[in-house]
Amino acid sequence: MLENLEIIIAMLEKVGMAALIVLAYRLIRYARFSIVRSSLAIGLLFGFGAVVTMVDPLEVLPGIIVDIRAVMVALAALFGGPLAALIASAVTIAMRIYIGGAGALAGCVSIALAAVIGLVYARLSGGRRDPVGLAILGLLLSLTLVAGVFAPVPIVSSTTPALIIRNLLGTMILGYLLAVEERREAEYRAYKREAERDPLTGLKNRRALEAFDRQVTTEAERRPFAVLMIDIDGFKSLNDLHGHAFGDMVLRRLAEVVRGRMRGFDLVVRYGGEEFCVVVKEATLHNARRIAEDIRLQIMEERFQAATEEIGVTVSVGVAEANASTLSVFHVIEHADKALYDAKNDGRNRVCIYSLETDRRQKLHQA
Ligand code: GH3
Ligand code: MG
Ligand code: MG
Repeated sequence: MLENLEIIIAMLEKVGMAALIVLAYRLIRYARFSIVRSSLAIGLLFGFGAVVTMVDPLEVLPGIIVDIRAVMVALAALFGGPLAALIASAVTIAMRIYIGGAGALAGCVSIALAAVIGLVYARLSGGRRDPVGLAILGLLLSLTLVAGVFAPVPIVSSTTPALIIRNLLGTMILGYLLAVEERREAEYRAYKREAERDPLTGLKNRRALEAFDRQVTTEAERRPFAVLMIDIDGFKSLNDLHGHAFGDMVLRRLAEVVRGRMRGFDLVVRYGGEEFCVVVKEATLHNARRIAEDIRLQIMEERFQAATEEIGVTVSVGVAEANASTLSVFHVIEHADKALYDAKNDGRNRVCIYSLETDRRQKLHQA
């Protein structure tokens, strides 16, 4: 009875360690590593967790030590996949060999078993992380006790209930906390994505430009980029004539056309009501102008079904490029906006490029 109590108290002492593991796991999740790097980090983290619990274990018999290493290794498999399981179990087995003692072989076998149980459970359950699933995994870990056959002396059977409870509670508590972290991080990412998205067109919104702007100002070696400001011609009368729903349909289609013409890493933003802003990365003014022309022509070819007729739509585009001294994407947007103003004044359905001349002319015009 006392032995069982001691094991449970010893386990409770590991709660602080579990909190540390959870904290480190959170950092790994938010760091948004690649899959390999995050598996590596998770494997090392749980390997470290297992090693720490083994440094301060409960020695139930000379050379026979008890701790929550099986839980650590199994959770590495569940939360980090095969690579993490491999790393965590390798680190843990190395530590168990280093500690030595009569139970070393049995210990190593039980660690390997824990990794296999964790991986098989993850595969068969589809990675279930809810309390019931975790309880099942915790109970399955009791199978590692069969490694006791490799121990020179039988592990006292009076401690077996505590060992089973240890695996069960350890897996449930630590697994639950890790699952909460994981869910929170996924929610955070989903909210962030939604906050940067325009619901009508699915394009990014201005917030994404602010994020890009921070990148522009911090990037040591400033990369060239150009900006297109695309504005639908006479959109207000299109709305007035054919209805708002028709206008919305046009906006959605044009968003598709623009997005379809750009590369994945270019930034396509719904800037205002019927205004799109495109950040063309690694582009010269010449390239950006060609792209703008492509988009303009492609949109001109589109036909939109209104109540009684098919309608064509045109856009005007202003183009500007960043230069070595550009500190903010919003300066380039301002320039592209001035070029757009020119395109509108020159009769719409055209592309205009920003130059110093644009500024001079517009100032003259205002004077
Ligand atoms: P211009 O050729 O000078 O650009 O004229 P315009 O009529 O396109 O320009 P204006 O800025 O006067 O009109 C923009 C219109 O876009 C007004 C507004 O009703 C419409 N609009 C803004 N957001 C939406 C939207 O989400 N859906 C629809 N259907 N219309 C929108
Ligand atoms: Mg317009
Ligand atoms: Mg407009």
